[in-house]
Amino acid sequence: MSTTGANRSPLQVTVLGSGSRGNALLVDGSAGTVLIDAGYGPRALQQRLHAVGRRHEEIQGLLLTHEHVDHASGAPAVSAKWGVTVHATPRTLAALDTLPDGPPMHRAALAEQGASVVAGFEITHCAVPHDAADCRALRLTDVASGASMAVVLDCGAVTNTLAGFLRDADLLVVESNHDREMLANGPYPRVLKQRIRGGRGHLSNAETAELLAACAHKGLQGVLLAHLSETNNTAGHAVEAARGALSKAGWRKELLWACAQREATPAVWVGGMGGGELSVFWYGGVAAGGRRRGV
Ligand SMILES: [Zn+2]
Ligand SMILES: [Zn+2]
Repeated sequence: MSTTGANRSPLQVTVLGSGSRGNALLVDGSAGTVLIDAGYGPRALQQRLHAVGRRHEEIQGLLLTHEHVDHASGAPAVSAKWGVTVHATPRTLAALDTLPDGPPMHRAALAEQGASVVAGFEITHCAVPHDAADCRALRLTDVASGASMAVVLDCGAVTNTLAGFLRDADLLVVESNHDREMLANGPYPRVLKQRIRGGRGHLSNAETAELLAACAHKGLQGVLLAHLSETNNTAGHAVEAARGALSKAGWRKELLWACAQREATPAVWVGGMGGGELSVFWYGGVAAGGRRRGV
């Protein structure tokens, strides 16, 4: 597995940055590494990878949730400069033609039904209500070990199908965009507020809490809250809402993080390859001194 060498986990997630100014997540499995979304160009991505001790040469594929610029603006340059293939649903690939830099040089469609395999991950997807061509939640299962993660970023409403799709994953990355009151009392124009809280906009902390409560299970190892608004939310509000709902749903692990826009969130990983008790560890930035906490 091509990781920092700090662990031998079958699956590790590093959120390089998340929010309306750019999203990118690195996912490592037993056999390879993929990037999910590239809302940053190669230079900014390189800096964020460097900050967590990683290199772009490790990336074997780029998966896109949808074509909005904060998720896909870097895809054409990443594909051209680093020779990375961009994987997305056919409708999202078609929508990439509208990007300012044009469509990516190397691209491949994810299977509409069933799973696709990229870099040792089995990849499935689920439709998400959002004002894009074909926004998707993604689920990545490490073929060798069965460890899995699921990610849902821009999402306007919680559906039963989505909750079912996320259920049973070992790690979850879920949008927790805004606090309803902060959005209502905040500076955004009325039309933008309506778009955000509409059924094809973004999840409020309360909606995220509802979704997490619906998919919490005993085997859930960790939850990363993503795409927090810097204007209409705080990490404290997001974590408080999610923790309350997860705890009510009987989830006792306190492995919950709010991801930042400005810097990478320390890697979170699933341990216990080959069966037995899974465990997730947290370490605070290699560059910051390798603080590590096992649970
Ligand atoms: Zn979007
Ligand atoms: Zn977004």
